[in-house]
Amino acid sequence: MLLDVRDLHVEFRTRDGVARAVNGVSFGVDAGETLAVLGESGSGKSVTAQAVMGILDTPPGRVTGGEVLFQGRDLLKLKEEERRRVRGAGMAMVFQDALSSLNPVLTVGDQLGEMFTVHRGMSRKDARAKAVELMDQVRIPAARERVRQYPHQFSGGMRQRVMIAMAIALEPALIIADEPTTALDVTVQAQVMDLLAELRREYRMGLVLITHDLGVVADVADRIAVMYAGRVVESAPVDDIYKAPAHPYTRGLLDSVPRLDLKGRELHAIRGLPPSLTDVPRGCAFHPRCPMARDVCRTDVPAPHEVSATRAAACHFWKECLNG
Ligand code: SF4
Ligand code: MG
Repeated sequence: MLLDVRDLHVEFRTRDGVARAVNGVSFGVDAGETLAVLGESGSGKSVTAQAVMGILDTPPGRVTGGEVLFQGRDLLKLKEEERRRVRGAGMAMVFQDALSSLNPVLTVGDQLGEMFTVHRGMSRKDARAKAVELMDQVRIPAARERVRQYPHQFSGGMRQRVMIAMAIALEPALIIADEPTTALDVTVQAQVMDLLAELRREYRMGLVLITHDLGVVADVADRIAVMYAGRVVESAPVDDIYKAPAHPYTRGLLDSVPRLDLKGRELHAIRGLPPSLTDVPRGCAFHPRCPMARDVCRTDVPAPHEVSATRAAACHFWKECLNG
């Protein structure tokens, strides 16, 4: 397994007390596989990604337990410098907001080229040629001219392609993309997702795709891990989830996105809001919003139940959910 996250815990100190942003999260990603981590905002998915990348702002955030095995080594046990080396060569991240992640006073070509001068010791001229090659690869038209332009001269979608070009520059084994298309309009979203999927195939990279939008994952993800209040509540191959969710929260998410295969069906948003992470409900954290909740849900935290060899759901009544 390329990335194997085991029982990860992350806490934040806030004015309202300790927030358990990530509360025992486990998942794995193989080479060439795409895992979508799905959840509403505040579910802990971005914090999980930051903990994996080792870029959690400290303090107030702190990894308090677990393992992050990348190519067999526990990143949490490495010294910062060693970790930076692993991260630089082995994994890269794509953020939602390309404009604030790119340097506004450097041309796109200089920023892309820097990857090769700094990390590969290339000459400026060779690095420039590589920058153009990369821009071609992420299908930015007229790369030879645009390599001299600044980030603000690119559209949102093209800027996101630049971010993706930076991420793949050193051919990492793993890319973590946190809401990579959220700021884009729907058509451009689809193009950027297609590009990510294609590059992932070409380079056999692992891809962790973090999103709140179930609509974008159907075509690109192999597996989905659904997060709620700092935990993974369901994890399964994407087709299984679409066929029949084994967790009421997943069902709620599915019922709130339009699907071409279920035209004319009514859409239902999940009632209520996700809890504050400093004040997670007792028992099953989803119980105040769950249409299937019963007494036991208010007292006992559901452990992940094995639904099949490749699938788990943390719900006392997963069987009912699956059949309902
Ligand atoms: Fe709903 Fe209970 Fe299952 Fe939680 S454990 S999702 S409250 S049925
Ligand atoms: Mg986020």
